[in-house]
Amino acid sequence: MRVRVEVTADRRFGTNSYLVEDEETHDAVVIDSNLEPDMVVEAARRRGANVKAILLTHTDLDHIAGLHELREAFGPIPVAVHDAERDVLEKGKPLRREFGPIATRVENVTSLTEGEPFHAGSLKFEVLHTPGHSPGGVTLKTDGYLFTGDALFAGSVGRSDFANSNGADLLDGIRTKLLSQPDEMIVYSGHGPATTIGRERKMNPFLLSDST
Ligand SMILES: [Zn+2]
Repeated sequence: MRVRVEVTADRRFGTNSYLVEDEETHDAVVIDSNLEPDMVVEAARRRGANVKAILLTHTDLDHIAGLHELREAFGPIPVAVHDAERDVLEKGKPLRREFGPIATRVENVTSLTEGEPFHAGSLKFEVLHTPGHSPGGVTLKTDGYLFTGDALFAGSVGRSDFANSNGADLLDGIRTKLLSQPDEMIVYSGHGPATTIGRERKMNPFLLSDST
């Protein structure tokens, strides 16, 4: 399996939506669904990618905003999320009590579970539960890449000041499940540029200064 990653970012929140494609079979998934889904739809069309599923690192609004447009473009493909945030999609339950209700409800929701590989066509992802920014935050690992959502960024970590956040869990998950990965692993975050595990282990001030 050789995987190719294409990044799109919306202009409002700079939220990344990734097209991840098996170069041989053209089977693909979209990871996170930002406010400008047209860009990732266009990338898939240009490459002739066959998008099999949408995987969500978590359900903050800027990561799920384009779900309906994506499923109009790609058909009623499964939307995969950790069980701790499944109600956000299936019942329209707000993830954050700090924000108002949201109106994104989708069908064909499936689970991302740590320890159970997620298959989408010829693609295979390992699921690492990295909560703390939100209860159901996950990192998706495939072929030398980690999609960390809003847990780990280049030079930073996710917010943990929401009612259902937990800063200690966030740092613990990053340390035990992400920094334990090889240096050369490429990190694709929910916002901002790509980085590597080696670079974050050396340079990320949030992971150096706090030794709890
Ligand atoms: Zn975000």
